[in-house]
Amino acid sequence: MSKQILILGGGYGGLLSALTARKYFSIADAAITVVNRFPTHQIITELHRLAAGSIAEKAVSLPLDKLLRDKGVNLVIDTVEQIKPDEKKVVLQSGVTYSYDALVVALGSETAFFGIPGLQEYSFILKSVNDANRIRAHVEACLDAYKVSKNKADATIVVGGGGLTGIELVGEFADKLPELCRSKGIDFNDISLYCVEAAPSVLMGFPQELIDRAVSSLSKRGVEFITNVAITEMTKTAVTLKDGRTIETNTLVWTGGVQGNSVVANCGIEVNRGRASVTETLQSTSHPDVFLAGDSAVVIPSEGARPYPPTAQLAWQMGETVGHNMFAYFNNAPMDSFTPVFSGTLGSLGRKDAIGMIGGKQTQLKGAPATFMKEASNVRYLSHIQGLFALAY
Ligand code: NAD
Repeated sequence: MSKQILILGGGYGGLLSALTARKYFSIADAAITVVNRFPTHQIITELHRLAAGSIAEKAVSLPLDKLLRDKGVNLVIDTVEQIKPDEKKVVLQSGVTYSYDALVVALGSETAFFGIPGLQEYSFILKSVNDANRIRAHVEACLDAYKVSKNKADATIVVGGGGLTGIELVGEFADKLPELCRSKGIDFNDISLYCVEAAPSVLMGFPQELIDRAVSSLSKRGVEFITNVAITEMTKTAVTLKDGRTIETNTLVWTGGVQGNSVVANCGIEVNRGRASVTETLQSTSHPDVFLAGDSAVVIPSEGARPYPPTAQLAWQMGETVGHNMFAYFNNAPMDSFTPVFSGTLGSLGRKDAIGMIGGKQTQLKGAPATFMKEASNVRYLSHIQGLFALAY
């Protein structure tokens, strides 16, 4: 009898699970349904560019119905409200309930606000196309307001957190704001662009040479770094720092960290700090008919080791492993252990500069080669999913 495969999430993990599963299961063998809250597959690794207005929305927002047309994968646009793993059911916001024989949870992560007062209420986040559009519209509105008000809070942008998300965003702003100011008749020298990082340095864990390169490249283009000081409060018009300083601003973009998805954390499957615990075959440790792909899961390579980071490249690879393992699960065949291939880490510093590491930390890249590699990795992903579309039937 045909199996019901339900995939929650149409991001990297969910999409790749669906397409890979369809390579193995015939239409008669399994009905595959993807549930996503947006009608698009979003290229979240490029959202900083949309937020700064450097690219158009359609470059990072691919219509799922087009991508999945004629591929034997059903698409449901709805928000997952509750997963009931003991009943093998999922309840959606519309009230519809789906049953499954195998479930893939690929709902991604959420922004962590760490209980910092005012942050959730007043800051902007960068987790979706809508978030990026909101940032872009707000910054433009603040600049328009500044022309009239000359209020410093309108001309000050603070990026909270100097991880890769914060650095890529601040780099894009540093490139785009001078152009935007010129188009609005504002002197770019009036603009303050801060990156505030609680740790002693931005990009902690990167080799010092690459950190220095990022800081000098961005400082030259007007970014002011405040490190070793945490953001402790946000109001509508100011950010307060741990050392007592206050920055007047109407724009804080918070990139201070991510946490597990709350729907997953509270659904009754075994979790580790809010992210699903998985076996090496990417099954829930408590519910073997539930498979995990992407940031919703925590994958610990070996006992006592640090978990793998929540990145797009891992979500993609997890999706492919899960797509195959569901087929093996129903056919009592051996499943694959998840053995990720780390192709490297690349971070853009704006449109013409980037840093990166390939082959662990052994090969460091700076400038044009890193920018080229970053562009190439995006193109590689897009052509990979197109390739899979061609393969799926
Ligand atoms: P992160 O957790 O890597 O960085 C958050 C930063 O915010 C940290 O440096 C932290 O010290 C800082 N912070 C936390 N609390 C703070 C406070 N109160 N005040 C000031 N700073 C504070 O988060 P991220 O940058 O969103 O990255 C999440 C994951 O996604 C990481 O694994 C990252 O490598 C990955 N990522 C990869 C890319 C890429 O490959 N190009 C891009 C973006 C994100």
